[in-house]
Amino acid sequence: PKIEAACKLDSPPTSKAEAPSTSTPIGKASGKVGVILPDTTSSTRYTLYDKPLLEKTLGSAGIQVDVQNAQGDVNKFASIAQSMIGSGVKVLMIDSIDAASGAGVEKEAAAAGVDVIDYDRVNLGGTAGYYVSYDNEDIGRLQAQTLVDCLDAQDVKDPKIIMMNGGTDVDNNAVLFSKGAHAVLDPLQKDGKLEIAEEATVKGWKVENAAPAFNQALTAAGGNVQGVLAANDDIANAVIGVLKNQGLDGHVVLTGQDSSVAGLQNVLKGTQSMTINKKVQLEADAASRLAVALLSGKNPSQAGLDLTDFDDPQSPSHKIKAVLLPAQVITQDSVKDAVKDGGLDVSEVCKGLT
Ligand code: BGC
Repeated sequence: PKIEAACKLDSPPTSKAEAPSTSTPIGKASGKVGVILPDTTSSTRYTLYDKPLLEKTLGSAGIQVDVQNAQGDVNKFASIAQSMIGSGVKVLMIDSIDAASGAGVEKEAAAAGVDVIDYDRVNLGGTAGYYVSYDNEDIGRLQAQTLVDCLDAQDVKDPKIIMMNGGTDVDNNAVLFSKGAHAVLDPLQKDGKLEIAEEATVKGWKVENAAPAFNQALTAAGGNVQGVLAANDDIANAVIGVLKNQGLDGHVVLTGQDSSVAGLQNVLKGTQSMTINKKVQLEADAASRLAVALLSGKNPSQAGLDLTDFDDPQSPSHKIKAVLLPAQVITQDSVKDAVKDGGLDVSEVCKGLT
């Protein structure tokens, strides 16, 4: 029988990371915060979720907030940072394009006495004292476990899969997603229960690299795959395009991440098996709590956050206090959760679907 990408699971895998306690209000502070997001092409999350939620959440804490997007250009990123520092921001939140350029911005900020929060992506080898993100290794584990469970639910024996990693060359998150996925898949491969036929990287998270990379991997695998672990929804969407040319769309179990509108539509259509609901409001809340503490000269350990120590393997003296949030697996049955958490318009998500 043909495999169905649409996946029904009685109990989808759940996050191991702890949900934040929301007992204390975020509080208020005055001052300016600048936020720089990386691009608008590797994921729609930055315009769909991060920008509006950060503006709203920081704004309601009384903070003057400026959210800009560097459009994938490291020079533009640096010049936005310079002008924000020049305009008197006290805190910079950066979601960098790559760690080296992010670390450069951190240096300039430090020289100007501006605190930096690594937002979503950590800058290894940098100097920021704070990092707000998800348990990204856990996200990789959730993606791979859902892939395995969806194949199992259809009694697929000894599946061949292709791994489509994100920008492991630029983003430690992509490294962690892949690491978490391998932690699930490698033992199964060792037991002969599954084969990772090909593993490819979408360099720089550049979505235009995704279809060519997948095409090549699919050809190398002889066109014979039952599952594809795609790091996010944008990569998954490119994979679906390639599968379509082979008449395989909807018949390969496929993961994603970010609960983008297109990703949720693909899940509803049955061409993508799952996505990840990051509940970006949690990330915006945590970042805002840190910003309020830093602006008001309070110790961030008293900001009502569960801060953990994060080690920078590239620089042992670089001590980071991190908030690592949980995420949720979304399948056809739970698309409504992502729609609700993301404040999406139901009619937009369901547009064109019958
Ligand atoms: C983020 C993902 C996103 C990817 C591409 C990662 O750092 O955590 O949510 O899909 O970058 O932008």
